[in-house]
Amino acid sequence: MNVKEQLLTLKPYIPGKSTEEVKRDYDLDKIVKLASNENPYGCSPNVLNAITTQIPSFAIYPDGAAAELRGKVASYLGVEGNQLIFSSGLDELIQMLIRAMLSADSNTVMAKETFPQYRHHAIIENAELREVPLKDGKHDLDEMAKQIDDQTKIVWICNPNNPTGTYVKQLELDGFLSKIPNNVLVVLDEAYFEYATNSDYPNTIPLLQQYENLLIMRTFSKAFGLAGFRIGYGIGSPSLIKQLEVARLPFNTSTLAQTAAISALEDKEFVEKTVALNAKELEKYYKFFDEHQITYYRSQGNFVFINIPGATSEEIFQYLLEKGWIVRAFPNGIRITIGTEDENEELMKLLAEIVTVKLS
Ligand SMILES: *Cc1c(COP(=O)(O)O)cnc(C)c1O
Repeated sequence: MNVKEQLLTLKPYIPGKSTEEVKRDYDLDKIVKLASNENPYGCSPNVLNAITTQIPSFAIYPDGAAAELRGKVASYLGVEGNQLIFSSGLDELIQMLIRAMLSADSNTVMAKETFPQYRHHAIIENAELREVPLKDGKHDLDEMAKQIDDQTKIVWICNPNNPTGTYVKQLELDGFLSKIPNNVLVVLDEAYFEYATNSDYPNTIPLLQQYENLLIMRTFSKAFGLAGFRIGYGIGSPSLIKQLEVARLPFNTSTLAQTAAISALEDKEFVEKTVALNAKELEKYYKFFDEHQITYYRSQGNFVFINIPGATSEEIFQYLLEKGWIVRAFPNGIRITIGTEDENEELMKLLAEIVTVKLS
């Protein structure tokens, strides 16, 4: 009994240490988790109301077509319903796309330091990976375009990029798309779309009219604060969506997730407040980093990627963990989810302590 050989090279996803484990291991009362880019303000209060007042029959399968949600999202974005595909979080859409498009005789192009699920599923399908290192912390679009050949099926652009928070600008994206053959799918992962406030962050929905080989991905997990429900969606041309629908499981999004997403969409104020607070807190972090010789990338997400000179990411991670703060360590830096004002202030104090230790 054996799984596919390539699975032996992969590890199952480990969501980091649980808060209970950290509490026990370090004898702490309070744990703050700023590791998974969840919304520190929760979600719209409308959501609890919607899922408790419109209690569905739990014995009935969900609406596999997600008709009501489809209508809401279509009008929210100004697209047609047949341009949308819903999934159990973007994680599932990534898996679906890769299952539908990649195999051993194909390759896929992505940044080397980006969201790891593209790579993970491409390996499971035995496709060749073409990973292009970031350049100055950003997607190297010129090199990515060069990597494309007749066997290339999908190019991934994570925008803003997780874990760096950096982004591809409108003009850069326009230039890139104009060079890509129309039989190569370009996936724009816009999981943090709502957080991006810079005016040159691309407005991609209009590009769908020009490029049939474009798929935009958005999720309810981040700014909408619904990560626990698992719901996200893709936006593309009707013909692409129709083909992908074949690879979608019949009831992949639950009734409650659909209801929650509908009510979250109706509360624009909640998302606006979330985004404004995030931008304000990011500015405070930048000021603090500048004052403490901490290096960072300016971020268009709800997280920031930093380095402390003289400290390894493992050292920073461990120092914070022992005080009850869970962040995300990467080989070349630390990713911190932007928390509430109080959380950020406390974390800055701890980071300052690390800087003091390392500089003395
Ligand atoms: C969080 C995240 C996802 C996955 O989100 P879901 O919760 O599965 O919708 C996808 N892409 C990026 C870049 C992310 O950060």
